[in-house]
Amino acid sequence: MSYKRIPWNQYFMGQSVLLSLRSTCERLEVGAVIVRDKRVIAGGYNGSVSGDTHCIDDGCYVVDDHCVRTIHAEMNAILQCAKFGISTEGAEIYVTHFPCLACTKMILQAGIKKIYHLEDYHNNEYGLKLISAVGVKVEKVKLSRKYFDKLTFGENDESFLPEINEE
Ligand SMILES: [Zn+2]
Ligand SMILES: [Zn+2]
Repeated sequence: MSYKRIPWNQYFMGQSVLLSLRSTCERLEVGAVIVRDKRVIAGGYNGSVSGDTHCIDDGCYVVDDHCVRTIHAEMNAILQCAKFGISTEGAEIYVTHFPCLACTKMILQAGIKKIYHLEDYHNNEYGLKLISAVGVKVEKVKLSRKYFDKLTFGENDESFLPEINEE
């Protein structure tokens, strides 16, 4: 019986989910991972501009029913590439939620060729139109629990801290 290695789409989507846990906006926790040649080149989650207060501390800054404080996960990941001078041409992106229109436009313009998403999220009609016009591929990924069972070995696993009530 051979051990089944985690497939790439599970490996990268799992990381996207992990990153979403760092989100600072309670309205939606989103994670994104940019991948090139089967390697993660950047990652992001939705949060404030560095130096600003966090939604989780001060509440969301809502305008027209949107929290305007946060930079979306996809944008943060792309900006990380800009900041550190990493090419996104031909890359792929793994996102926990289908990108909004603004992020979709950025993803396309950054030369990213495929969008993997875990969940649909108000999938924008114009965004979808642009995606197909540009020829970018979209694939919905479901996580397979068997590959993540190792993250929860059980209460006795020595890798985990004992459960505490606060934080
Ligand atoms: Zn917020
Ligand atoms: Zn967005």
